[in-house]
Amino acid sequence: MKRRALIAGNWKMHTTVMDACHLAADIAGQCSGLLDRDVLLAPPFTVLSEVSHVIRESAVIVGAQNVCWEEKGAFTGEISPVMIRDAGGSAAIVGHSERRQIFHEDDALIGKRLRGALSFGLLTILCVGETLAEREEGRTFGIIEGQIRNGLAGVEAGQMAKVVIAYEPVWAIGTGKTASTEQAQEVHAFIRNLISAMYEKSIADQLRILYGGSVNQGNVDALMAQQDIDGALVGGAALNAESFGRIIHFR
Ligand code: PEP
Repeated sequence: MKRRALIAGNWKMHTTVMDACHLAADIAGQCSGLLDRDVLLAPPFTVLSEVSHVIRESAVIVGAQNVCWEEKGAFTGEISPVMIRDAGGSAAIVGHSERRQIFHEDDALIGKRLRGALSFGLLTILCVGETLAEREEGRTFGIIEGQIRNGLAGVEAGQMAKVVIAYEPVWAIGTGKTASTEQAQEVHAFIRNLISAMYEKSIADQLRILYGGSVNQGNVDALMAQQDIDGALVGGAALNAESFGRIIHFR
């Protein structure tokens, strides 16, 4: 089954308006002619509008790094799916390990965010991944299964076309330590089988599963050659137009 690759750049809490516009323009320029894959940028909320404007004539997708489930209301510090759309975004990330670890977001909250994003038609990337201790205790598959079952609770089969899952082992994020291609492929295959069991095989076959964790220009080709790796969620290397440019041109 051929799935359309998706390379997503998570800019985290980086970039002023000027940095963001330069980076987005450079990346959009490098995307022209890339017809067989999608490129998504997730800048900070403060520059969503500017980035959306800069990439408007390209096929680049713009998304937010998190999203609330409500359209509006008393949710201080949150951004709604409608606001993301209004700023030109059409996607969102939920459940990033930094949200889970630093801000103590749990599966129930992440599931709520995911359902909210989907109800407003956002392409939504659900991040999952085990810590080093969990891997060493042999709990990787149980952790991933729990995060996916709880995160996708209440998500209907018909909404799965807008869901992307990113497998990001916590020990590989921002550490320079990448999972081996075998370790990554093993978890991706597990996720696809799980989705097949939870929904149906055709949905699992269509689901895009991204790998994230110190992806760079030196390891992207080998990762993308794996059968169940359909793309990458990139942090550090997404902040540099040259390295991200090479990643989106993976071979
Ligand atoms: C991330 O933030 O999702 C990530 C994978 O970061 P890095 O590529 O820097 O490890």
